[in-house]
Amino acid sequence: MNQHFSKIHSFFLFVLACQASLCAQAAPTVTRLTPPSELFSSGQAAPVIARFLPGQRFDLQATIRPDAVDKQIISATFSLDGKDIVAPTALKNCEALCIKGLPANATLATVRAFSVDAPGLHTLRINATQSDGQTVSAQGNFEVVTLVKGGQKIKNIIILLGDGMGAAQRTAARIVAGGYVQGKVIAPMAMDTFPVTGMIKTASLNSIVTDSSPGMTAYVSGNKNNNNSEGVFPDDTLDSFDNPRIEYLSEYLHRTQGKALGLVTTADVFDATPAGNAVHTSNRGAGTGIVDQYLDDRGLTGLSVLMGGGRKWFLPASIPGSARGDRTDYAFSSTDAHTADIVKRWGAAQGNLDKDRNLLTDFQAAGFTYTSDKSSLDAIDPAKTDRLLGLFALSNMNVALDKIDGRRAKALGQSGRVVDDYGFPDQPMLDEMTAKALAILDRHKKGFFLMVEGASIDKQAHAMDTERWLLDTIEFDRAVAIAKAYAQSRSDTIVIVTADHECAGVALIGGSRVSDSRLQALVREGGGTALRNEVVGVYEQAGFPKYKIATDGYPQTTDIDNRILVGYGSNADRMEDFRTNLQPLQDNQQPFTKQEPLSTYPSGLLARDQEGKYMITGQVPGDTATHTATDVPLSAFGPGAYAFTGVMDNTDVFFKLAQAATKGVVLPASMISKPIRVRRKP
Ligand SMILES: [Zn+2]
Repeated sequence: MNQHFSKIHSFFLFVLACQASLCAQAAPTVTRLTPPSELFSSGQAAPVIARFLPGQRFDLQATIRPDAVDKQIISATFSLDGKDIVAPTALKNCEALCIKGLPANATLATVRAFSVDAPGLHTLRINATQSDGQTVSAQGNFEVVTLVKGGQKIKNIIILLGDGMGAAQRTAARIVAGGYVQGKVIAPMAMDTFPVTGMIKTASLNSIVTDSSPGMTAYVSGNKNNNNSEGVFPDDTLDSFDNPRIEYLSEYLHRTQGKALGLVTTADVFDATPAGNAVHTSNRGAGTGIVDQYLDDRGLTGLSVLMGGGRKWFLPASIPGSARGDRTDYAFSSTDAHTADIVKRWGAAQGNLDKDRNLLTDFQAAGFTYTSDKSSLDAIDPAKTDRLLGLFALSNMNVALDKIDGRRAKALGQSGRVVDDYGFPDQPMLDEMTAKALAILDRHKKGFFLMVEGASIDKQAHAMDTERWLLDTIEFDRAVAIAKAYAQSRSDTIVIVTADHECAGVALIGGSRVSDSRLQALVREGGGTALRNEVVGVYEQAGFPKYKIATDGYPQTTDIDNRILVGYGSNADRMEDFRTNLQPLQDNQQPFTKQEPLSTYPSGLLARDQEGKYMITGQVPGDTATHTATDVPLSAFGPGAYAFTGVMDNTDVFFKLAQAATKGVVLPASMISKPIRVRRKP
């Protein structure tokens, strides 16, 4: 018998012995302790841990496994720094609740809406007792940050989030919209005029490559979430609405200061970025519950302005185009403390499986003015409006390129464009939505927090549709200009422009060496790689692409001679002809995508640009470009801006904003100049 076999043999004997309850080493175990920490996971008291504001609320949770099927966990108590936590602890057996691998008698111990005022490092311990008297204990830690009393307090916070907008996306928009002569930009982007810029580390709790949910929530909760999660820590249950919660910036500032919340996006409003400011779930796809929480928990968040696409979640299930359903909804128990405490201790809504709810009329009954297109948005008098709901499409709004194309066609009396195919020919641009949001939020005397998202910079980078994400970046920058002008007109508002992550590994490889008519001829010839070899100009062959900007602020055409050329580092296999795509790819989130005319749009990256026969083999599997782990730029304007420099973690941004909004603006130590000591030469 070799040694390896002998080891396996004795392991089986050991397991058999344990199953017969004869195992001396058997003991209950703690398999998860929340907030997550390295002290619990690896025993290392690592300096990188969960952090909270003094008084910021969050849930504590432990998963405890008895050592045998006939045992139960009969009590569990959390302690902080050696003192028992007196808040009610809900004990819940896994039964059908938990993920695969956990036995039915595993127990979740949860304390909801806990908070600590004292700054410093705190040790959290769970002590549990099994039915046979055996005990188990485990420890983790977290930090409560120190807020220092500073100078000027900030009244309003505006975060403009260009989804997927890395440095390359910013540069590309600048080249197209700003133009270059003599190697210098002619008309700078608004975001390039901000006085302070830093770099952001974007990793999530469980990956170097984040998705948009934890990418957003890091900025507004101060903590890392798993991918697909919004404002919650991971747990062991299947229910995506019962995870341990973390109080958002919106909730903290509404609870402590009465500030209002505004969310503006070009995506469906249920999407990860807007939801990651106001909704708590580990499933970013749970649209019915997400939009219900917007309204039902507005007392927690102060939600006063909500604009974007996504009408499909607001219409009763019986109406064609509605996406409401029980599968994406939630309902907390009124008796079982495991979720009933979310209602009782957080003051959150109970939730209800109510696919037939008419959320449009419910919003209106709650005092929201409803607008469904640009004309009715323009007609709203902000002097008479405190709360606004704007839903301009069934799902994601059309992108800037298609909205502008629709407007220009309409001015010429033409129709049949992309926005007409979608049935929404009168959608507002992001800057128009932002201006209205600011005019309404300005009426809220205690200040506001506004998040504005340029969503399809990301969505069109996934599709590697260069001109579409480019124009969306220009649209986004026009919203930045609106926010900057607002902040400039007063001295109590900070504006942050950043991204949640980079998307598609965008590389600005150069410019086309040919005219657009020659490019069209090459495409017709179907030259494949030969097309690339004649077209792609690198280094000085690229020169300075010259786009003409129309009075509406967007390029007259994107099919110019010697155009900008873009490569993609996280490319899936795609066909490429370097020309503007007449139609966007099919969007699976749109309700009528499989019906004409939307079903005639290209179904994917290989169904587009086929004529030129130039295929680029991808470096990622699947049919979409992916997010990358690259740092993203952050630019800041207004009082407090100088705190946002250097290389920061995305969670740092939260604490800097909270510092400015609660105790005032304090310059980081690195920026306080020290007297210079002159050393004499010997
Ligand atoms: Zn994305």
